[in-house]
Amino acid sequence: MKFSLVADTLGYMEGTTKRLELTQHLVDLFKITPAEIIPKVVYLLQGKLRPDHEGVEVGVAEKIAVRALSKSTGVPVSKIEHEYKKAGDLGQATAIILEQKTQTTFLKEDITVERVYDTLFKIAELRGNRSQNMKMKYISSLLNDASPIEGRFIAKIITANLRLGIADYTILDALSIAYTGSKENRPSLEHAYNVCSDLGRVSEAVAKKGMEALKHFQVSVFSPIRPMLAERIKSPEEAREKMGSEFAAEYKLDGERVQIHIQKEKTVLYSRSLENITSYYPDIVEKIGKSIKARDAILEAEAVAINEDTGEFLPFQELMHRRRKYNIAKAVQEYPITVNFFDIMFLDGKSCLDMSYSDRRRSLENVVTEDAFAKVMPMTLVKTDDEVEDFLENAINSGCEGLMLKQLDSSYRAGARASNWLKLKREYRNELGDSLDLVVVGAFYGRGRRTGRYGALLLSVYDKESDTYPSVCKVGTGFTDESLDQFYQILSDKIIVKKDSRTDSGLEADVWFEPEVVIEVVASEITLSPIHKVALGKIRKGSGLALRFPKFTGKIRFEKTPENATSSSEVMAMYNGQKKVVQNEKQF
Ligand code: AMP
Repeated sequence: MKFSLVADTLGYMEGTTKRLELTQHLVDLFKITPAEIIPKVVYLLQGKLRPDHEGVEVGVAEKIAVRALSKSTGVPVSKIEHEYKKAGDLGQATAIILEQKTQTTFLKEDITVERVYDTLFKIAELRGNRSQNMKMKYISSLLNDASPIEGRFIAKIITANLRLGIADYTILDALSIAYTGSKENRPSLEHAYNVCSDLGRVSEAVAKKGMEALKHFQVSVFSPIRPMLAERIKSPEEAREKMGSEFAAEYKLDGERVQIHIQKEKTVLYSRSLENITSYYPDIVEKIGKSIKARDAILEAEAVAINEDTGEFLPFQELMHRRRKYNIAKAVQEYPITVNFFDIMFLDGKSCLDMSYSDRRRSLENVVTEDAFAKVMPMTLVKTDDEVEDFLENAINSGCEGLMLKQLDSSYRAGARASNWLKLKREYRNELGDSLDLVVVGAFYGRGRRTGRYGALLLSVYDKESDTYPSVCKVGTGFTDESLDQFYQILSDKIIVKKDSRTDSGLEADVWFEPEVVIEVVASEITLSPIHKVALGKIRKGSGLALRFPKFTGKIRFEKTPENATSSSEVMAMYNGQKKVVQNEKQF
């Protein structure tokens, strides 16, 4: 197939923004495209070579493209650069230069879609020292035979500047019209797209076998599924209205959604936006095989940073330390995670998408063998608002953002934001208005960069009634290297061999101190806690109050004695203040 057909279509499309016209141009092109080539055409139209999740990028520097054009036309680099500056666009400049050259040469070979695609693919695969020269050679051989309009789009595609923004859904519309005769069939195409996230694969199937191919469109390992999304609700009552009499409530952890594809020894991980994120989680790749009893599977999990000493979940930001190219092994050590499975979409050669939530959950529980690293997301069946509230409270106390509520008989609706999944977060209009002054009663040894110092401090309030120091949080954020050194020094002469009789905490610190040093902390909210002892039993039997996401502000309150620290009753007042905000919100 001549590449000029694709280039002409791109040219027409550049001239319009109307969706109907754009679609029509695509339909006309698809109708004359042989089925074997359709995936290549579809990718090129979007300036790609493969679906995004495969990470194949042409990415040629503009300098190289300019030199290649100079090589194939004999026009000096400086003249091309001048033309580029004038036109403001390398594609346009390429077309002008080729136009001038066309007037002086006659012999040209037609270039085909296959040749353009295959050459670009070779360029994308080139690595290493000599790759620049090779890239230039490939490009200049293409440009040698390209017409001005072909050259213009080749230049745009190789430099990743094809900014036509042809949306996936416009392409699906056009495929539906061209190959099934009607736009009405688009939902079937969309379904196929949602289960493989690969427009090339969908286009080839429908071009070869029409609607029939879509009926049998299969989920397959290493083709990421577009994730199912949840609607947001404000109260448990809303959940009951939408979900009926009984539904599942799962913890909503605050980490990164990971779609895990496993086949034999191979594991590939995709993010929520279907980027391949395997390299950020070598620990998942290494350990997860042991926990999954399956020949092949696609599972969904939330990867969450944890404090390995206490098992506490840490906020999402902690995971971002993993987003680096180098020294991943160090990040894995310093920021350990757990993997919390919440869904299964494929198992031993079969799709699970059409199974009900209950069946998928059962399957998930069978497939995952839990250990310290791999967990199945905590879940309970709920019927009443109180049951939802209770589980929400548990979830928040365990460091979750809230709950995910899921309809028991609902299938996995790939790519859809549907009301079969609801998210219920506990949110306050304000974070805790005030900072708190807390007493350092214990410390935990640091690891990684903090080895040889304290990594986190155990903090208490002062309880006037009983003259004790009940703990209210463990704080590990907000410290600079200097403040860590400073604490190590200041606290060294407060060390005592065993816990002070007035200190009250469910946590076992590595080192205990006399309650003397007071520091300032901010936090996002106050929650019920089974570990911390402030106002124990006053709000709920067996629970105390704790700070969520506490952070050291950098201030050591040397001027304060421990008795001047924030008191239990102040923390209780803050907690009750929060409750009011939540209740007020519900009324509106
Ligand atoms: P949001 O990002 O607020 O729209 O919430 C949806 C996100 O919550 C998902 O993309 C997951 O990353 C995350 N999540 C945490 N726990 C669960 C769960 N139990 N089920 C589904 N998603 C969850």
